[in-house]
Amino acid sequence: MSTGKTEIVIIGGGVIGCSIAYHLAKRGARVTLLERDRLAAQASGASAGGVRQLGRDPREMPLAIASIARWQTLEDELEADVEFRRGGQLLVTEDPALIPELEKRVAAHRALGVDIRLVQGDEFRELAPGFAPSITAGMSTENDGQASAPLTTRAFGAAAERHGAIIRTGVTVTGIRQEGDRITGVETSEGPVACDWLVLAAGAWSPGLADMLGISLPIQTMGLQMLATAPSEPLLKQTAGALNRRLSLKQTPNGSYVIGGGWPGDVDLDRGVGMTRLDSIRGSIEHASAVFPLLARLPLARFWIGIEALALDEVPILGPVSGLANLTLATGFSGHGFALSPIVGQLLSELIIDGTPSIPIDAFAFDRFEKLSKDAAFPDWQAG
Ligand SMILES: Cc1cc2nc3c(=O)[nH]c(=O)nc-3n(C[C@H](O)[C@H](O)[C@H](O)COP(=O)(O)OP(=O)(O)OC[C@H]3O[C@@H](n4cnc5c(N)ncnc54)[C@H](O)[C@@H]3O)c2cc1C
Repeated sequence: MSTGKTEIVIIGGGVIGCSIAYHLAKRGARVTLLERDRLAAQASGASAGGVRQLGRDPREMPLAIASIARWQTLEDELEADVEFRRGGQLLVTEDPALIPELEKRVAAHRALGVDIRLVQGDEFRELAPGFAPSITAGMSTENDGQASAPLTTRAFGAAAERHGAIIRTGVTVTGIRQEGDRITGVETSEGPVACDWLVLAAGAWSPGLADMLGISLPIQTMGLQMLATAPSEPLLKQTAGALNRRLSLKQTPNGSYVIGGGWPGDVDLDRGVGMTRLDSIRGSIEHASAVFPLLARLPLARFWIGIEALALDEVPILGPVSGLANLTLATGFSGHGFALSPIVGQLLSELIIDGTPSIPIDAFAFDRFEKLSKDAAFPDWQAG
């Protein structure tokens, strides 16, 4: 499509909506982003900020590898400090009998193009000194890392504005106008906004908005718990997980350990708030300290719940919907969308402006669900 006079409206000021806004505006498109709260108010403010290639669905690997490449220079590109640190990613095992399983995973990741290896014994202890003495092996990749999700979201938003995008916060989309197979605008708490193209990037609230168009998104809402300890000496540069544990662990630049891994919380979607569960807090501390004993002694400084959209098959829903000429979906990131945000913004801007993204995204099409069994169940979701 020509971007000359086209007004593209994006619903949602999370990291995905802001990245799409930036990439579109950089190409000269006229973009208005509508966010009912402030930027990074939901999942993108609560996120653990892990930037990883490991443990992904094979369909996501081309995007993950391309996104990791973008992360290496993203701060320069956005002219912002987003606290990106290339500390690597580590998946450890407490059970020596599972080292062959790690070897298998290393081979599988290498076959997909990831630079990864198994680290054992003295080399492991030197690389990751804080783990329990019984843990002697892990698979390690050096290119992965971590960043601040709220800073990244706001940096995409600010860069989008520098390229001419309009970002309106405190504006709730309440309706979508449609004429035939075209969307012509949205109704909002501040009045109507006309558009030639609509991007739906409203995270866990996307199904409610898609319903307005008669589209039933196979997305479930998840409340994901995060814990943060008081600051401590620097001991962990990687983002770490452990086989057969609900664990995602990292140490932030201020020394605090941030612990996640998919421990559930409760969600009130209407109010946009999550509530912690005592058993999840206990469970998370127990799993984390079994692997990284220092955590049993550090006081908790903060805990929170982020609200995420879980797609039925745990990979995002990206691209058009048949029967609608000017709608793009960007939702269902299933607990691992932050790392993909640079490439998703790029590819969807290419899809909208050029008609074809430079990396195929057919595997993420909404119509893939037509092939899934009607009885397909939402997964018991793991790690972040
Ligand atoms: C606790 C937690 C930990 C995570 N850890 C990681 C990790 O380590 N690595 C990783 O890669 N990913 C991680 N993720 C996932 C990642 O953070 C998300 O996939 C990503 O932030 C999703 O971004 P989004 O823009 O799609 O959604 P959101 O950030 O939720 O943004 C959607 C926005 O839409 C707005 N909105 C909703 N309805 C309307 C409306 N009607 N009108 C206007 N605006 C509306 C909302 O207010 C919200 O700001 C984690 C997620 C959580 C919750």
